[in-house]
Amino acid sequence: MPFTATVLTILPDMFPGPLGHSLAGTALNNGVWGLKTLDIREFASDKHRSVDDTPAGGGPGMVMRADVVGRCVEDAIARQPDVPVIAPTPRGKPLTQQRAKALSEGSGVILLCGRFEGIDERVFDHTFSNGTQIEQVSIGDYVLSGGEMAAMVILDSVVRLLPGVMGAAESESEESFSVDASWDGLLEYPHYTRPREWEGRTIPEVLLSGNHARISAWRRAQAEERTRLWRPDLWEAYEARREASPKGKPRKGRS
Ligand code: SAM
Repeated sequence: MPFTATVLTILPDMFPGPLGHSLAGTALNNGVWGLKTLDIREFASDKHRSVDDTPAGGGPGMVMRADVVGRCVEDAIARQPDVPVIAPTPRGKPLTQQRAKALSEGSGVILLCGRFEGIDERVFDHTFSNGTQIEQVSIGDYVLSGGEMAAMVILDSVVRLLPGVMGAAESESEESFSVDASWDGLLEYPHYTRPREWEGRTIPEVLLSGNHARISAWRRAQAEERTRLWRPDLWEAYEARREASPKGKPRKGRS
């Protein structure tokens, strides 16, 4: 069975959307991964197929009902009992490359997309029939109008890591945040291509030298410098890991 994602949504027509294109789309067409949607409205019990109601305690907006959403999650779990259930939400744990990598090593994921003001809290407090609790994941400190695009972001980050999706040319090993031990969470170094000169700017000479050891050392130094300057949080973690490792500290970036 390929990696299978089941998306629970009131807008199933949004899928596969962007996931039907490029790397993810080719892989989907080739059966490297599978995508299903479950329409949350199918689990409503009234003739209007209502999924939301007014918030207890008053206030603006609508809240997705626990009973309707709960039935939908149970249905998805019955089909895929061994995969994590993730609800994209702005208050969740930030999505990381590590989490994407771990998901890509599993057999799939169930993604529960919120709309309106979000989902009744009891769904998150609940333990489902297979012992699962929903994991809340944020894709950034901003608010989208629904979980579908966040689910697509999560899926895109996972699917590109599935075996056979990326070619050697798009290797993940020296990408920003790569969990590959040799890259260790650094940002990526800068890239250049033709023409050799553009608007008075040239390609760094070392990249044209053909000396692979020099190129590799230059790229590493650039990656370290960028990480130190642009993402002090990542740099601090990188230095701490290096200090704790037998190899010792990383080179200081040049400023
Ligand atoms: N009232 C919520 C709050 O203040 O946290 C925001 C609800 S938002 C309008 C509707 C849905 O969009 C959420 O239930 C969630 O599924 C999704 N969403 C919005 N921003 C998100 C983010 N940064 N990361 C992941 N999902 C997000």
